Amino acid sequence: MSQPTVIRGARHWRTGECFDLAFEGGRITAPPAAGAPARVLEARGLVLAPGLVDLHVHLREPGQSSRETVATGTAAAAAGGFTAVACMPNTSPVVDNPAWVEWVLHRAREQGRCRVHPIAAVTVGQRGEQLTEFLALKEAGAVALSDDGHPILSAAVMRRALEYARHAGLPIVGHEEDLALSAGGHMNEGPTATRLAIRGIPGAAESVMARRDCELAELTGGRVHLAHLSCAASLAALRDARRRGLPVTGETCPHYWTLTDEAVGRYDTRAKMNPPLRSERDRLAVIEAIVDGTIDCFATDHAPHLYEEKRQPFDQAPFGIVGLETALALTLTFLVRPGHLTLEGALERWTDAPRRVFGLPPVRLAAGDPADLVLIDPDAEWTVDPERFHSRGRNTPFAGWPLHGRAMATVCDGEFTHLDERLAPPAEAPAPRAALGAAS
Ligand SMILES: [Zn+2]
Repeated sequence: MSQPTVIRGARHWRTGECFDLAFEGGRITAPPAAGAPARVLEARGLVLAPGLVDLHVHLREPGQSSRETVATGTAAAAAGGFTAVACMPNTSPVVDNPAWVEWVLHRAREQGRCRVHPIAAVTVGQRGEQLTEFLALKEAGAVALSDDGHPILSAAVMRRALEYARHAGLPIVGHEEDLALSAGGHMNEGPTATRLAIRGIPGAAESVMARRDCELAELTGGRVHLAHLSCAASLAALRDARRRGLPVTGETCPHYWTLTDEAVGRYDTRAKMNPPLRSERDRLAVIEAIVDGTIDCFATDHAPHLYEEKRQPFDQAPFGIVGLETALALTLTFLVRPGHLTLEGALERWTDAPRRVFGLPPVRLAAGDPADLVLIDPDAEWTVDPERFHSRGRNTPFAGWPLHGRAMATVCDGEFTHLDERLAPPAEAPAPRAALGAAS
């Protein structure tokens, strides 16, 4: 027989109040009567928040399971405090028809450790030409459309895509890159690239396309979500679009507020991603855009690659780093501890904000909401050890970094999907008396 689980003595992520939260059958419930049988997890003042959501993850299935699988990618997500990820369709084959959307969802139901929301391709084969069947893709379960990994080069195709996406009620996630400007480039254009004699990619390769898509959002009324914004000029485009009231949102990733192109050092392929790490001026502009609310939400762009792929010479190694298991700590260590954001403001960008951007059901920690939760120790100190990742990918520039903040427990759909070894597992006990500020 099912019985409620109670998380006792947690700190509410918004109010800071100490409270108990109960859930049963996948939903948050009113606290059980004091003394009733329950499973009790002693939170001892850890911060309880809605489960984190990552709108930009590469799970690599179908077809690239040596790099990652739905099972390993969602296990990494759960360990990082995530209860939902949206996965990109640049797999092989490309997720460009309803059958593959259903395949991903089926795989996630069988092997997933968190909710998986497929993003379907905008164009057939992500070739930038013929549009896919947006309504059928939505019906199959796609939450957004993207040719991520590739830009939609033709403005005319993007215009038509936005017109249809508006009718389908889906956002288009833009991988903003002018391939003529980025051609042959492997890192940010600037002094470091010059020193290493690597061809650079200017920020304008991203910002001219971000600008274009803001204009097309105005023309069509279709919703654009600008992916992985990395540089000052793109953030200016997004800020301008918001001022004009256009249906445009945007995300950035932890590596853009923590690192600059100097991390490439001596051809370190672990610091190679697309868009590339930028200048210190860009990094500061990213933080400014986070603080002033220009950036709607955070995402990891989790992109696992094989060790052998990343071991190649810099100009041959693939773009991308893993991110699910370091995202929360990089947020707490480099945005909250220095005072750029409050804990609540930072968690908002990983919880409510991404749910809003993709129209996912809200989690307010109120009775009736999905039991999608994360219990966080904001002060826990740990050192990044890629060998301990649940992800198949080990490609991170943060190996060996001391960080603050950890997901101590993750609950998805009422099940514990992650429990840190430092936390005692939930045990049978009489339900506690409801504490102050209990979920209503
Ligand atoms: Zn991309």
